[in-house]
Amino acid sequence: MRFGAFQAVKDVSFSLAEGEALGIVGPNGAGKTTLFSLIAGSLTPSAGSISLASESLVGKDAAARCLAGIGRTHQVPRPFLGMTVFENALVAAQHGSGLPAGAAERGAAEALTRTGLSALANRPAAALGLLDRKRLELARALATAPRVLLLDEIGGGLTEAELITLVGLISELKADGLSIIWIEHILHALLKVIDRLICMSVGEIIAEGDPQAVMRDPSVMAAYLGG
Ligand code: ADP
Repeated sequence: MRFGAFQAVKDVSFSLAEGEALGIVGPNGAGKTTLFSLIAGSLTPSAGSISLASESLVGKDAAARCLAGIGRTHQVPRPFLGMTVFENALVAAQHGSGLPAGAAERGAAEALTRTGLSALANRPAAALGLLDRKRLELARALATAPRVLLLDEIGGGLTEAELITLVGLISELKADGLSIIWIEHILHALLKVIDRLICMSVGEIIAEGDPQAVMRDPSVMAAYLGG
């Protein structure tokens, strides 16, 4: 991915197995969020290819990729504040899942159940605290019936107790078979969930593999100290 003369993501190549949870770490500016935008279709790569199962995603916009099964949470949740929790999930299910009307309602309700939000279904999104906003961000992504879930620093700002709750939710999604890529700075939370870890630095993958081994890699430690 080039922005003018600047190359934000360089020759990054990896695959995600079905049901796998992959973590991505790296200092600020490493290109992590840009990589998610390339996968989710909000940026068009200057070169290279991205596919889901054997189907190429190149040329599909973000809405089409969502329908194809790419679900994404954003670093800064932006729910429809004037809508209720259920309505937020319903909009996601109606526009992102490809389900017919009745099934979209069930999909939205199920997304609230899976994220522990059912009791708050009729509360305005604007009235939610931070953990519940994170749950809603997750519920909106789940309501689109993703095959791959992209989590962008969803742990940020939470207390330790809240992080334990969030890690529990994400672990359940993984146990249900969802494939997950999770960018996160809070390593102890990330390491409870992921099977494999990639570390990026200045647009490149500098280490990949077993999470503990990646964290011990001298180039990873240097990138963090340098970043
Ligand atoms: P990370 O998520 O790892 O912190 P980003 O993907 O946000 O990194 O950014 C990677 C690099 O690309 C940064 O140097 C950033 O300034 C640059 N960048 C990101 N988006 C744009 C853009 N739209 N235009 C120009 N530069 C960008």
